[in-house]
Amino acid sequence: MHNNSITQLAEGLRAGDFSSVELTRHYLQRINQLDEGLNSFITITEEQALAQAEAADKKLTAGEGGVLTGIPIAHKDIFCTQGVRTSCGSRMLDNFISPYDATVVERLSDAGVVMLGKTNMDEFAMGSSNETSFYGPVRNPWNLDKVPGGSSGGSAAAVAARLCAAATGTDTGGSIRQPAALCGITGIKPTYGRVSRYGMIAFASSLDQAGPMAASAEDAALMLQAMAGFDQRDSTSMQQPLPDYSATLNESLQGLKVGLPKEYFDEGLDAGVRQSVEQAIEVYTALGAEVREITLPNTGLAVATYYVVAPAECSSNLSRFDGVRGGYRCDNPVDLEDLYKRSRSEGFGEEVKLRILIGAYVLSAGYYDAYYLKAQKLRHLISDDFKQAFEDVDVIMGPASPTTAFGVGEKSDDPVSMYLSDVYTIATNMAGLPGMSIPCAPVGGLPVGLQIIGNYFDEARLLNVAHQFQQQTQWHQQLPEGV
Ligand code: GLN
Repeated sequence: MHNNSITQLAEGLRAGDFSSVELTRHYLQRINQLDEGLNSFITITEEQALAQAEAADKKLTAGEGGVLTGIPIAHKDIFCTQGVRTSCGSRMLDNFISPYDATVVERLSDAGVVMLGKTNMDEFAMGSSNETSFYGPVRNPWNLDKVPGGSSGGSAAAVAARLCAAATGTDTGGSIRQPAALCGITGIKPTYGRVSRYGMIAFASSLDQAGPMAASAEDAALMLQAMAGFDQRDSTSMQQPLPDYSATLNESLQGLKVGLPKEYFDEGLDAGVRQSVEQAIEVYTALGAEVREITLPNTGLAVATYYVVAPAECSSNLSRFDGVRGGYRCDNPVDLEDLYKRSRSEGFGEEVKLRILIGAYVLSAGYYDAYYLKAQKLRHLISDDFKQAFEDVDVIMGPASPTTAFGVGEKSDDPVSMYLSDVYTIATNMAGLPGMSIPCAPVGGLPVGLQIIGNYFDEARLLNVAHQFQQQTQWHQQLPEGV
C-alpha cells in the first residue's frame, strides 16, 4: 500500500480495497518496524490516528470527503497540535501540550487526513542535519551513517522510508528543500504568505514558511491545496486567489524559459551533483524548454546576510521562553534572575543559544546599524537579483544542496561548513519566493535534488514543471533498500 500515490490510495479507499483504519494500521506497523533505526518521529499518536481513520471511513462509506480523506500523514513537531505534545525538537518544550491547532494542522484535518504523529526536527528548526534535536539525530534511510538534512529531516526521512503518505515541513533557509534533496523526496516551500504561519512555532518570522513534503509533485499538489490560502490569524498571510494545483500538472513545457544562475554552479558544487543536475536539465530541454545562463550577482552575500537576519529574529522570538509562562523551568531557583538564566541555559541546546547570542549582539544599540540594518539592505539587493532574472525567465533551476547527504557528526563542530549546506536555498527565503526540490539521478547511492525556483505565487507552475519531469523519470519512485 505504501508504494501508492495519494491519488491511488484515495481510489483504493473509495473502491473498498482497504479501509482508512487498515491503511493507518499499515503505516503504524511500518513506523514500529522501521523507525527505531531512523528516529524520524518524536511522538506517535496511535489512538488519535485510529479514531480519525474510523471517522474517515464513515465519511467514505457515506460517499463524502475529498481526496485526502483517510490518508495518513505526519506533522513536523513545529506545528501546534491540540492535546498533543509540540516540542519543536527542544527540551524547552518537551512538556508542552498545545491547547490549539495550527492553521495548517486544522486545514489538513478538515480535509480528512489522519495524523500518525509528530516528526523529529532540528531544535527550533535551526540546523541542516537534524543533529540538534533534543530527541537525538535522525538517520537518512538511504544510508544510516548519513544525515537526512534539516531542519525538517524527520519529515523527509519518514516520507523517504514511506512511514507516512506525506508530511508537513517548514523552510526558513532551506529546511524543506535541503532534506527533501538529501532524502530523495519532493518538497515545496511556497511563497512567503501563501501558507499561514498561525500556530507554527516561530524561528525567523520574516522567512519561515510551511509546505508539503511528499513522494511526488502530484502528491505535493494535493497537500498544498489543503494547506494554502489566506488566514486572518496570520497578519502576513496574503489574500491571493488559490489556483487548483492539480489541474495544471500536465500543461506542456514547450517554450518554458529556464534560467541557470552561474553562481549556483560554482566551485563549491560537488562534481557528481553537478552532473546529475545537468542531466536533469537535459530532460527539460527534451521537453521543449529553452535553457539559458543567468546571473544572480548577490548570491555570495546570501548566507552571511541570513546569519544576521535569522538570528536577530530568533533572539526576539525565543525571548518568550522564560521559564515563567510555559516551557521548561529549572529546579529550585534562588530568585527570579536565577529562574530566567537557568531555565534558558538548561532548556535550550547549544546551537539555539549560539543563535540567540548572535541575534542579541547584532540588534544591540552599538551594532544595529553595522549588522542588522546592513543585512536588511543586502536583503533588498538579493531580492532585486531575482526580480531582474524573472523579467527574462519563467523558472530558475540549479542544485538544491551542494553535496549529497554527509556523515552523521561530520559537520557538527564546523558551523560555517554546516551553514553552507543552504548556500543555494537561502536567497529564495530572503526574497520570499517559492522553491522546490525534486529527486534526480543519485550519486554514489545517495539522492540528489534539483531545485526549481519560481516567481511570487507561481507554485502551480513549479508543480507543473516538477510533475512533467517525474513523468519522464523514475527517480522519485526509487526507494532505499529495506523499505
Ligand atoms: N539550515 C538553516 C538554519 O540553520 C535553515 C533552517 C531552516 O530553514 N529552518 O538556520
